[in-house]
Amino acid sequence: MGRDAEWAAAVRAWRSLLGAAHVVTAAEGRERAVRGTFPGGAGARCVLLPGHRDEVAACLRIAHRRRLPVHPVSTGRNWGYGSVGPGPREVAVLRLSRLDGVLDLDEALGTVTVQPGVTFGSLARHLAGAGSRRWPPATGAGPDTSVVGNVLQRGLGSGAYRDMAAQVRALELVLPDGTPVRTRAPGATADCAEEGPGPSVNGLFLQGGPAVVTSLTLALHPAPERHQRVLFRLRDGCLAAVLDAARELLQRVPAGLTLDVRNRPRITAQWPADPAAAPPPLPAALDGAWTGCAELWADSTGLLDATRDRVLARMSAYAEHWHLQAPAPGAPPAGGSRGLACAYRHKPARTPDGLPPDPGRDRCGVLWFAPALPMRGADAARVVDAVERAMTAHGIEPCVALRLGARVLHCVAGLFWDRDDTAAESRALACHRRLAADCARLGAYPYRPLLARVPEQAVDASVRELLARLWGAVDPRGVLSPPHGRPVP
Ligand SMILES: Cc1cc2nc3c(=O)[nH]c(=O)nc-3n(C[C@H](O)[C@H](O)[C@H](O)COP(=O)(O)OP(=O)(O)OC[C@H]3O[C@@H](n4cnc5c(N)ncnc54)[C@H](O)[C@@H]3O)c2cc1C
Repeated sequence: MGRDAEWAAAVRAWRSLLGAAHVVTAAEGRERAVRGTFPGGAGARCVLLPGHRDEVAACLRIAHRRRLPVHPVSTGRNWGYGSVGPGPREVAVLRLSRLDGVLDLDEALGTVTVQPGVTFGSLARHLAGAGSRRWPPATGAGPDTSVVGNVLQRGLGSGAYRDMAAQVRALELVLPDGTPVRTRAPGATADCAEEGPGPSVNGLFLQGGPAVVTSLTLALHPAPERHQRVLFRLRDGCLAAVLDAARELLQRVPAGLTLDVRNRPRITAQWPADPAAAPPPLPAALDGAWTGCAELWADSTGLLDATRDRVLARMSAYAEHWHLQAPAPGAPPAGGSRGLACAYRHKPARTPDGLPPDPGRDRCGVLWFAPALPMRGADAARVVDAVERAMTAHGIEPCVALRLGARVLHCVAGLFWDRDDTAAESRALACHRRLAADCARLGAYPYRPLLARVPEQAVDASVRELLARLWGAVDPRGVLSPPHGRPVP
């Protein structure tokens, strides 16, 4: 049977399994499903919308039998990294947004089990409705994105959820041939430990592992008693010194602190968050080449004051304007969709009235280039300088945010443009290629796949070989695209 005949037979089988309404084959629906914030990636042959875990397994069995590729997404809002975009092969998109249950909430141990369609907004509402005292996770991508989708990409969250993947406790998966797998034994008493006994398994299924995740158990932090935000403008020319000082601070401070540094274009792209308002002048603390932002949280005024005093003492040599927001009760608020404002920076026709923002639908151009760098001031500053110069040379505003850690920082460079401006789109794509090449020469690689692919050089050849062998065993028919190297033939 030829390839087209295999697809046609599979579509018939998927229709009889899910019902015609849950198998999208019309050109407009397929195009809409893969519409992203930048061009690239192959199209969707069809979009499958299962409503149950068993249907996910049955969909995969059909694909496996006919050797057809499938690309799973949760809510498909991976804006700036590929949206739904499936990578180089034409695929059946397996969209899991109908699996939207919060399956379990253990308030005492602080764990929650969610399906792929549970969004950050719906999880926060669920926690509030259950009277939970847990801190709901959130990211800058807003309330309508999937918790599972973000965690699987090792997303960067706010506050205690900076490293979303670090919160994973257990996964329920379906392998490409339809076999179900649980990374925890059912009924195991220690199912909230970070890993079970034996080799670490959860990590194999992050950032494009060979399985479809149907539910995920996540650790939830307790909501703190108080929080405070501190902004400070850096003196010119001291970025490297600030990064070294921040490393020492973050390695020693017991808890309750994140530190970010943003350059002026990145601050301006987000200012004001309300696009309808005329931009007021930047306050002094934000009006420099680089601005530091410390988010603090603690369970008492004394602890919060002590952490804040350490930040002020450590940064005072490098800061020239401070803005200390008043301490407030509870966890820092999630911020709603305000983080998406930068995506609309060059889009004159903004979100249609009454609809939540969706940069892909609204033809906003967004591409992230986000290398992970060592927290060594001079080394990181060299890469940041290369990033800013490459973006400026291509006529792209060099919007850069550095999300600092104790040993590694994530340099998140945002390329924003209007997708209806073809010249701007060409510049942005050329700029992204140049960023990848310049930074690879400095040994800096994106921390997260773009269009489901990881650059080969970013992973040691021996690890690529190991993953290819594992992949060959788990997905011999190439149903799911491997993120490293070539798809299995
Ligand atoms: C202005 C702006 C701000 C942003 N801020 C942030 C931020 O602060 N932090 C951040 O991390 N990101 C951010 N993003 C990027 C992105 O929008 C988010 O990471 C978003 O959460 C990912 O979309 P999603 O949750 O719908 O994931 P999806 O698109 O559903 O999934 C992403 C990918 O994960 C894999 N996947 C998803 N579900 C499954 C599954 N069930 N089984 C197997 N594989 C699966 C697939 O490869 C899929 O393509 C931002 C984007 C924009 C435009």
